[in-house]
Amino acid sequence: MEEVLVNHDKNKKILLSPPHLSGNEWKYIQEAIDTNWIAPLGPNVDAFEKEMASYLGVKDAVAVSSGTAAIHLALSLLDVKKGDTVFCSTLTFVASANPILYQDAVPVFIDSEPETWNMSSEALEKAFEDAMLAGKLPKAVIVVNLYGQSAKMEEILAICNRYEVPMIEDAAESLGSQYKGKKSGTFGKFGIFSFNGNKIVTTSGGGMLVSDDLDAIQKARFLATQAKDSAPYYQHSKKGYNYRMSNVLAGIGRAQLEVLEERVNAKRFNFLKYYKELSKLPGVQFMPELEGTLSNRWLTTLTIDEKITGIAAAQLIQSLADDHIEARHVWKPLHLQPLFKGQKYYSHGEHKSISETLFMTGICLPSGSNMENDEQMRVIESLKMVILQRAKMTHPISG
Ligand SMILES: *Cc1c(COP(=O)(O)O)cnc(C)c1O
Repeated sequence: MEEVLVNHDKNKKILLSPPHLSGNEWKYIQEAIDTNWIAPLGPNVDAFEKEMASYLGVKDAVAVSSGTAAIHLALSLLDVKKGDTVFCSTLTFVASANPILYQDAVPVFIDSEPETWNMSSEALEKAFEDAMLAGKLPKAVIVVNLYGQSAKMEEILAICNRYEVPMIEDAAESLGSQYKGKKSGTFGKFGIFSFNGNKIVTTSGGGMLVSDDLDAIQKARFLATQAKDSAPYYQHSKKGYNYRMSNVLAGIGRAQLEVLEERVNAKRFNFLKYYKELSKLPGVQFMPELEGTLSNRWLTTLTIDEKITGIAAAQLIQSLADDHIEARHVWKPLHLQPLFKGQKYYSHGEHKSISETLFMTGICLPSGSNMENDEQMRVIESLKMVILQRAKMTHPISG
């Protein structure tokens, strides 16, 4: 009997970052159904926006259908048009940059630096200097906070402010994180969040655009609801979008926001356990946490040095998959994507592309806030087994 159970457990797939509901979602969904608010907009949407704004300490927020939609609205509000350039972190999910293309603008990709894996201020400075020389500054800079770790906001903002170019903070992965005591996502002219199914809190799909500029958020609401003029009939003088969040999904978001701190603690606990068990393995290095920041550790991420371990990231991911464990590569840098072939890229050092190295060596481990202790031990044992085995083959004991 026991053995059957163990076998069954071993075959249960451990996912990278599955949704983790709190139970309270039903209360808000029930309310929405009881009051017949099965529509985009409604009391849950209003409340969710207020609760997010108050949690973050920003003036206003608009709930939308995705994080991608939030970025698109931000670019639209900053008047990014055909032929304009937008600087963007290269080491990120494609959603950070797709909205640049929606506006027929041109992305310029900026490398990471090793301390946060996020935008390098050295590379950003070089990109600005070149743009200045060419007489064409970007309309916006999109800075991503990878896997929950905040970018070096002070340095990056200082550069953006010097060139008077607004910053959009892509905090899709960093809700609940902090930089020098201030909530992640509140540093730019706009901050954006995602509630996609794999994010730290989820509405199944959704996003939020936040800002201290009340006027801008009001405009975002207008653009996100088909840009309907205030007239007694359907009148439109601007191009609009159908980007609002539904009242049912906002209800899920409200319940999820209530447990955000718990989720952050669980994710950080996962990280600590991985760190304790694996950080001493030769050739293994965890994503750092910059001093003065608090990462939500959305995904626990590490790099593996093939020269030391004798195993490449891709092989390690495959060997975990054989044990029914879902691990993934770090994002493939956008300047290497076929979609963005030929676009400009600024690396951290002249011959040193940090993002490319991270892509080659990085893996994301299962990091669900609902991952059981014995599941995490399975991941740890599986990793240890391959790495130690390879180490023996690569460095046989001499003499
Ligand atoms: C998830 C994610 C997005 C997009 O969010 P969606 O809600 O899926 O549109 C944008 N940027 C980053 C860095 C993300 O991880």
